Amino acid sequence: MARPIQKIVIVGGGTAGWLSAAYLNRAFGRKVDITLVESPRIPRIGVGEATVPTLRTTFSFLGMEEADWMPKTNAVFKSAVRFNDWRKPHEGRDSHTYYHPFFDVPEPAVRNYEKPFHKRFGRGVSLAHFWLKQRLAGDTRVRETFGDAGMALQRLCELDKAPKPLPGTDAPDPHYRYAYHFDAALIAKYLRELATGRGVKFVSADVKSVSVDPRGVIEKVVTDTAGEIEGDLFLDCTGFRGLLINQTLNEPFVSANDVLLCDSAVALPARHQEGGLRPYTSATAKPDGWIWEIPLADRDGTGFVYSSAFTTPEKAEQQLRQHLGGRDHDIAGNHIKMRVGHNRRSWVNNCVAVGLSSCFVEPLESTTIALIEYQLALLVLHFPDSDFDERRKTRYNELMVSAFEDLRDFIVMHYTLTDRDDTEFWRAVREAPIPASLEEKLTEYAESVIIPDGSQLRLFETRSLWAILSGMDFDFKKAPPSVDLMNDAAAWEMFEQIDKEREIYSAGLPSHREYIEALHRGL
Ligand code: FAD
Repeated sequence: MARPIQKIVIVGGGTAGWLSAAYLNRAFGRKVDITLVESPRIPRIGVGEATVPTLRTTFSFLGMEEADWMPKTNAVFKSAVRFNDWRKPHEGRDSHTYYHPFFDVPEPAVRNYEKPFHKRFGRGVSLAHFWLKQRLAGDTRVRETFGDAGMALQRLCELDKAPKPLPGTDAPDPHYRYAYHFDAALIAKYLRELATGRGVKFVSADVKSVSVDPRGVIEKVVTDTAGEIEGDLFLDCTGFRGLLINQTLNEPFVSANDVLLCDSAVALPARHQEGGLRPYTSATAKPDGWIWEIPLADRDGTGFVYSSAFTTPEKAEQQLRQHLGGRDHDIAGNHIKMRVGHNRRSWVNNCVAVGLSSCFVEPLESTTIALIEYQLALLVLHFPDSDFDERRKTRYNELMVSAFEDLRDFIVMHYTLTDRDDTEFWRAVREAPIPASLEEKLTEYAESVIIPDGSQLRLFETRSLWAILSGMDFDFKKAPPSVDLMNDAAAWEMFEQIDKEREIYSAGLPSHREYIEALHRGL
């Protein structure tokens, strides 16, 4: 007879391992015994410092309070990604810049506005469609209103504002969506203390071998200093090594390097830029790749992402240091070989791969920690008993591949829409094949048939698609037929009202630095 899972063994203690330990412990309490084994010798990947807004729900599930965990991990807010130079500059400009904001339209605008209009047309999508209609008609006002650096949402980023008012003030809270930047080493430490404080067992040892029975079921891991550790369910959180899933169970890895050419990165800490504390991640395209800059409370995390087919690690590090213009710390760069793609199956027998051992898209848009959250939520939903019902695993694996492919398409889109042709790298990017699924989506976007599918993981919904498509000057062919029904005057009025409200909110929002300093003082 099937019995409940009693013992989970997690191998690996990076963000994936410790987030898994804390999450499963929160979900199951002390009904399930959880042990995490981490090598004291094998370093974590050492990057992964920008997130997306889903993490707020996960941290709140874990009972984590911003006032407690943010100062301990040098965390700050992230309200957007700013893309620099992903296309040639517009006429008359020196550079091309656009934002992918997380900010949502503030709530009261919905309430104040005439209800029937909303009921009929909704918001967001219809305003975006209206914007598209005006743009196709050559109305220059829309460039200033929506979809350009003058956009009100982006102004909050340019002004280095925090996404919410300081507690205890009278300023209205617009309830903007936001995410975080944090120190990767410190967040793993924080999660470790949280999880072990709640009963997760921690073993500091190297897993030297894995015992598997003739059916391919893992029985135990054998460590160098802590003996053997048996379990019912094993989580592989060993990063790109995939010690259990790939090296032991021989599950094949399906590479996505044919459509995403970047396979390498070099990371460096740097001093902050002059001026305010930026509330966004920057992704700046360079001749041979792109550079991320992630402001934290005490430093910037930076890195250069490139394809080894077009540049060497030395040149990549040189380009990064050059970009940083003397802000780089005088230490060796952290050179990383990236495994871009996904396991054919992330759950095999009694082993579930979580984190980099499962799949990795590429760092643009900071999606891997969100994928870890998704994997854990799915695992709890499909949690097995000792029977390990094949149908549950199959469903889980199908959902994971589908989530991966959707994200892959979203990331490839950023590259596909470039018109850069200044180097071999960008010419190769433009000539790289694009997934058939993305080809189909782009045709739909061009003809304004955008139908987000709520049944699967869609980290990036319509508003994000619009940010990228409009930012990258996508060649829209037509506006959706529904805009012909729209009351243009009412739509303009709504834009103006939203803009006014944003100004009011913005006036009440503290600077990002002010908020973070207050957090460090204990708010
Ligand atoms: P790792 O951090 O590599 O941890 C592996 C763990 O396994 C370590 O603790 C190691 O000691 C242990 N281990 C390995 N072998 C053994 C063994 N034999 N015995 C015991 N323990 C073992 N994600 C985001 O969400 N946002 C970002 O901005 C972002 N940027 C990225 C930039 C780059 C260049 C890359 C490559 C990734 C980025 N990611 C990002 C992904 C993010 O870094 C990872 O998802 C996250 O750090 C989780 O990694 P991990 O825990 O799976 O692996």
